[in-house]
Amino acid sequence: MNEQELQRLVEDISQAVFDKPFRHRASFNRRLKTTGGRYHLGSHDLDFNPLVLELHGAEEMEKVVKHELCHYHLHLEGRGYLHRDADFRKLLKESGGSRFVKDLRQTGTIVPPKWLYSCSACGQLYPRKRRIDLKKYVCGKCKGKLRLKSQITTR
Ligand SMILES: [Zn+2]
Ligand SMILES: [Zn+2]
Repeated sequence: MNEQELQRLVEDISQAVFDKPFRHRASFNRRLKTTGGRYHLGSHDLDFNPLVLELHGAEEMEKVVKHELCHYHLHLEGRGYLHRDADFRKLLKESGGSRFVKDLRQTGTIVPPKWLYSCSACGQLYPRKRRIDLKKYVCGKCKGKLRLKSQITTR
């Protein structure tokens, strides 16, 4: 899904579920770590974490869009737009928005270091995910020569 498609999705859901237009910008933001989306009070724009779609699929993405649209519409109408507000809770329930975003930590996709190098002069250790060119890299502390100490086998 690209940003244009995201914009369309938010506009469509806004019209279909809230019966009101979404007149601002929706964009993806990879810097959102554990939040699924964010509503900007100043610009009224929405940010979405692309991991929601990548890890949990389109259905979960729609729920997050609904959640952010609850903030959006309530805030623009001067109603209670915070999580604790009764207006927000009611609208969230009616629209079917997500209450909590699903886990967005990418456990299992993180590649552990596989190669262990050490400095032949000072002994500093350098765990690395990939093999490194020993002719090109030297110790960051003392500029000594690096050598392959072992191959880490964890799986
Ligand atoms: Zn929220
Ligand atoms: Zn060294």
